Amino acid sequence: MLTNNLGYPRIGSNRELKKACEQYWSGKAPIESLVQAGAAIRANNWALQKKAGVDLIPSNDFSFYDQVLDLSLTVGAIPKRYHAVILNNANTELDLYFAMARGYQKDDLDITAMEMTKWFDTNYHYIVPEFQRDQTFKLFSTKVIDEYNEAKRMGIKTKPVVIGPVSYLLLGKEKEEGFHRISLIRNLLPVYLEILTALTEQHVEWVQFDEPFLVLDLEPQEREAYIYVYGEIKKRFPRLKILLTTYFEGLKDNLELAASLPVAALHIDLLRAPEQLEDVLEAIPDHLSLSLGIVDGRNIWKNDFDHSLAQVKTAVARLGDKRVFISPSCSLIHSPCDLDLESNGEVLSPEIKQWMAFAKQKVDEVVHLRELAGTEPSAAALAKAAENRSAAESRKVSPLIHDELVKQRVAGVRRKDEHRASVYPVRKVAQQEVLNLPLFPTTTIGSFPQTAAVRSWRTKYKKGLLSLAEYDALIEKETEETIRFQEETGIDVLVHGEFERNDMVEYFGEQLAGFVFTTNGWVQSYGSRCVKPPIIFGDVSRPAAMTVRWSSYAQSLTHKWVKGMLTGPVTILQWSFVRNDQPGALTCKQIALAIRDEVSDLEKAGIRIIQIDEPAIREGLPLRKSGWPQYLEWAVQAFRISASGVADETQIHTHMCYAEFNDIIKHIADMDADVITIECSRSQMELLDAFADFNYPNEIGPGVYDIHSPRVPAKEEMIALLHKARAVIPTAQLWVNPDCGLKTRHWDETKKALLEMVEAAKELRLSV
Ligand code: GLN
Ligand code: ZN
Repeated sequence: MLTNNLGYPRIGSNRELKKACEQYWSGKAPIESLVQAGAAIRANNWALQKKAGVDLIPSNDFSFYDQVLDLSLTVGAIPKRYHAVILNNANTELDLYFAMARGYQKDDLDITAMEMTKWFDTNYHYIVPEFQRDQTFKLFSTKVIDEYNEAKRMGIKTKPVVIGPVSYLLLGKEKEEGFHRISLIRNLLPVYLEILTALTEQHVEWVQFDEPFLVLDLEPQEREAYIYVYGEIKKRFPRLKILLTTYFEGLKDNLELAASLPVAALHIDLLRAPEQLEDVLEAIPDHLSLSLGIVDGRNIWKNDFDHSLAQVKTAVARLGDKRVFISPSCSLIHSPCDLDLESNGEVLSPEIKQWMAFAKQKVDEVVHLRELAGTEPSAAALAKAAENRSAAESRKVSPLIHDELVKQRVAGVRRKDEHRASVYPVRKVAQQEVLNLPLFPTTTIGSFPQTAAVRSWRTKYKKGLLSLAEYDALIEKETEETIRFQEETGIDVLVHGEFERNDMVEYFGEQLAGFVFTTNGWVQSYGSRCVKPPIIFGDVSRPAAMTVRWSSYAQSLTHKWVKGMLTGPVTILQWSFVRNDQPGALTCKQIALAIRDEVSDLEKAGIRIIQIDEPAIREGLPLRKSGWPQYLEWAVQAFRISASGVADETQIHTHMCYAEFNDIIKHIADMDADVITIECSRSQMELLDAFADFNYPNEIGPGVYDIHSPRVPAKEEMIALLHKARAVIPTAQLWVNPDCGLKTRHWDETKKALLEMVEAAKELRLSV
């Protein structure tokens, strides 16, 4: 039985990559330091897996920003607007790469970044490949081969990981009309063949092709593309062993297709779709090995060895142990790095910690499982099994987890708790009377720059180097300056700036019962951005008000309206590691009730506009359409429970980023937020069409500039976007705001951009 790993976290156990990237971007460190930091992380990861006893160790799972962007560069899918960067001769390949990821403003060049979107149903974001009708591909970057050779020089023979050609095309987007990107497969395949030629010259044995689209609903031409691609690869490289990986869902109706492809092994996710094991074993032909994804790559709980071993046993009984691999369910980039770095104590109690495993521990679990599944497990492995069983027992009965009051309140939720007092048209009038806002009201999404200074105050406070009073005074000063800046800029609805928050979910989790935290449990979100998801381990409740202090303080400083800022129940759920001992829908309802109480407390404190952010609604959608209705029902219900406890006059906003709305617009409308702000600028307002076609009745703030890039947009760009918006949405429904929160930006560009934005709104008002 081989042990297999699909990918290891590349941020470094102490976020070394983030630090190195940001140093380089800000000009504080030369490119050599960045390159060196990357090499050190790769070397560490390989050595660690080798030492643990992993047989199939991945390479090319490292990335300086994103693995999809890596592949775009590899196959030369470089949009034309970046050719100027190539010609601007001071640049290296890495600068071109970062220009595609983040935009480029240098010398006379001003080039926008590529679009970014969620990676399946995770909170990881990838850079969307852009395709033209006459798209050509050529081997541009040799990263796959270089990293394979790099490991080989360390004496470690790896299994290069690449996104398979069909999934790569499907991940991208057509940038002009008149073709489907899957038709590019014949142009693309030769580059893959070239890569495989180079790898086989280096005596590669296994290559992992990630084809996660095999778990999605597929069109006929997409199925044909799979047959074509893997058939061609087999013809050219009859002896090369391809491991075809699928994850995040079951193969379902694509099982026959997947099992028919001429590859050496197939990987399946048995966490998301345990029920597929029987069918897969039934369908699998004799030449195919099966990689069992049984250690959860998407959560932090210890594996249930007894359960996993039963699955392994079933598979071995049918296939024999030579054809069975043991593996995590998906790449471990979705797990934090190393539980050993968490100290026992204040942050994470030993009782809870014993229930958990991070990437490094999961790799060990894979190896232990292999040993335990063998005929004569060592004493050490048996001890591991005993430890594993006792942790599972203690978790089942722990009084830390269960709260009767919470369970009763959830059971008592009634229909009326999900409805505002009046319908939207009535509320609109009531709100306008109180709020008295102009047409095209301007606002922001909530956060203002979290400067190094702001973050250092929090660190010092947490270390006891600042008293609470000192810390609060600093945050108050920052908040006041931000209020003054917004007043001076002429923004209509102000925000307090969220300086007191480390993260939009962690901040709430820290104040809710049922959550625990890690000190170093970081997971990559996009580029150098990492998040440290809270861990929901027990029943959730709100012991005290969470945000009233800061919202009230900000409101006390100004006569303009200050918007209260909350994170919604679905997003809190989605962006946390969740309990796996009860359904997510139930946990979500518990959170919704806690947020509802907070909304009421804000209203009581005189806050008239309250935003409940739900950027994660869409990413929670099951990957197969058949699962959507059920999910949307409980997700929308949770939002409504959180938002419906207020008077008509109180205006509820929600915010979503990077969501496409076409197929869920009815449910977005069902959420019945008075105002929704959405990401729109990178997609040139395309996202608004869904709202227009639906005759969406409530108000909408389509983002007019991209906050993920430091680039300052000119007022004219925003005016043009607003005209586009106006062409499809009635003027009286439109708000003007950036795409998302500004916490990752610097003050300098933020000030300039918001001034331009306010000017744009003013010009629009003149034109009415
Ligand atoms: N209010 C949050 C902020 O501005 C929203 C962030 C988000 O949607 N991801 O930071
Ligand atoms: Zn957002």
